[in-house]
Amino acid sequence: MASDNRKRPSLKEDLTCSICYELFTDPVMLACMHHFCRACISTYWRGLRGFVSCPQCRREFPNRQLLTNFLVSGMVDKVRANSSEGYQKDLQNQLKDSLESYHAKREEYLNMIRQDKEKVDTIKRVGVELQARVQGEFQALRDLLQQEEGEVLEELRREQAEVLEQAEQRLEQLRTAVQEAEESVRVLQQAADAMETSVLVELPEVNMRPSLQVEKEAEFDVKAFTARYSGPLQYITWRRMFKLLKPAPAPLTFDPETAHPSLCLSRDKTSVVECQEMLPYKRNPKRFTQCVNVLAAQCFLSGRHYWEVGVGGSTKWDLGVAMEVVDRRARAKLSPENGYWTLRLREGGRYSAGTQPWTPLQVDAPPRFVGVFLDCEERVVSFYNAESMRLIYAFNHGPRGRVYPFFSTCVSERGQKPHPIKLLHFPQDPL
Ligand SMILES: [Zn+2]
Ligand SMILES: [Zn+2]
Repeated sequence: MASDNRKRPSLKEDLTCSICYELFTDPVMLACMHHFCRACISTYWRGLRGFVSCPQCRREFPNRQLLTNFLVSGMVDKVRANSSEGYQKDLQNQLKDSLESYHAKREEYLNMIRQDKEKVDTIKRVGVELQARVQGEFQALRDLLQQEEGEVLEELRREQAEVLEQAEQRLEQLRTAVQEAEESVRVLQQAADAMETSVLVELPEVNMRPSLQVEKEAEFDVKAFTARYSGPLQYITWRRMFKLLKPAPAPLTFDPETAHPSLCLSRDKTSVVECQEMLPYKRNPKRFTQCVNVLAAQCFLSGRHYWEVGVGGSTKWDLGVAMEVVDRRARAKLSPENGYWTLRLREGGRYSAGTQPWTPLQVDAPPRFVGVFLDCEERVVSFYNAESMRLIYAFNHGPRGRVYPFFSTCVSERGQKPHPIKLLHFPQDPL
């Protein structure tokens, strides 16, 4: 393009009069198709007689016919207007604006790159930290297992040694008994042999009752020994490991003092259900609630905690944690701003995180058991499908300060059977 521009004169040059070197003023065309200002060509021809010629190509004409070319006139007007100071200023301003806009855009993109690079660095750093954390958690499990294995093997060796020692002792006793019996046989045989040659006066002194009493049945029990170590060893170990898990599922119970009057607790306080009539629970007026919810009797201030809640087929609930400081007598939207970090379900299987506004969640399979994880130091509150342990939602700006596990059965629709919410304790038996 640049070389083309050099070869071809610009439009402005095309529209310049070759007599006055200005843009055409009232341009006229000669029969040779060359253009000039009307005044310029008239002046050029003034005083000439007879034939006149074109100043550009020297062609001669018998008369002075000047043709008006409206196309060229129009183009000259346009070029003149575009060459005006105001227009140039406008153009300059536009150029300046465009330049500034592109500079700004470039800066913006560079900023975005910087931010993305920072994100990439963060992801890499967090990834390394997480890898270390995952390795640490699994190492802790392996350590636990190894320790358990060592203890079980040690016990097995000790018991084996005990049983072997018992068996050895018994064998020793039996060998001594055999020797004593053989000695008696020898003495008696001697006596019997002597009887054939002489008259026996009295029986030789033989210990007829062996000094050793060896039981017919062995004391050691091979069957019992075998059974101890061939049983469901993994399950036994898992149960023993369970109490060492950190965090182990917290065996929560509901606090009747905090329950709404229309909530009914099971005798062991691990199950709550909405009742049709109000129940005469003794309630703490400070902790009483306007809404159909209840807190756990346990609270958390530090550390990492996990608990599981059975929600069964219930179509409506809110679960999570509530700050100790929230005024539960006041009706408030369940959101972190108001001291609640919750997961909620409403009819039609609509799950959402208790943010303002609600954050709708895609849940693959409706969880029958919800796991709630609270990390007080990292300020994380997260929810899992407790069967698949798939993460449903995580709040990364969790509470600061004392919190209580929070449960709401919500008010059930008329004619609908209310579903209980259950706190799961497992393994079921105390360890
Ligand atoms: Zn001219
Ligand atoms: Zn000409």
